[in-house]
Amino acid sequence: MQHYQAYLKDEAATAALGLQLAHAMAPGMAIYLHGDLGAGKTALTRSLLHAAGHQGHVKSPTYTLSEPYRVTVGGREIGVIHFDLYRMSSPEEFLDAGFREDFNDDNICIVEWPEKAEGVLPKPDLAIYLRVNGDGRDVELQAFSDLGQLCLDRLHFAPHLG
Ligand code: ADP
Ligand code: MG
Repeated sequence: MQHYQAYLKDEAATAALGLQLAHAMAPGMAIYLHGDLGAGKTALTRSLLHAAGHQGHVKSPTYTLSEPYRVTVGGREIGVIHFDLYRMSSPEEFLDAGFREDFNDDNICIVEWPEKAEGVLPKPDLAIYLRVNGDGRDVELQAFSDLGQLCLDRLHFAPHLG
């Protein structure tokens, strides 16, 4: 499986990556976002959702743990579920909330703080690692399935992300 990395020099570069992911992602994908508080996980998700046609706010689902959206991907209306598991107290909470059922072929699940649900979360198709570096962010993208690899193959790197 392939692996990409880039430097996102400012928030516009993060938004450019979100736009690219919105066009590259496919129904059924699970995308996990790793990185400390302030690394840009929500910023990336926000730009992705807006690029996929969501017009309202995208707030961090810190207390609700998950927030559903309807967007258009490849001309098809699908669900994107945005998770922020930072405040989850135990992996059981994930199962009790029925979150496991959101991971199906019709949805795309984007998960901040997947570490909090280790053992109960399915394997991701794509993992994205964000790290503060100077004024910008280092980003690494790693595919864990054919679906994730297909998504990475559709991204156009250097010229847009500088
Ligand atoms: P997280 O969800 O990882 O805790 P947020 O997305 O809430 O982080 O916050 C990230 C912060 O970093 C925001 O203030 C955003 O404007 C900023 N940011 C996002 N991407 C970049 C970047 N590439 N360079 C500099 N700042 C960025
Ligand atoms: Mg966040």
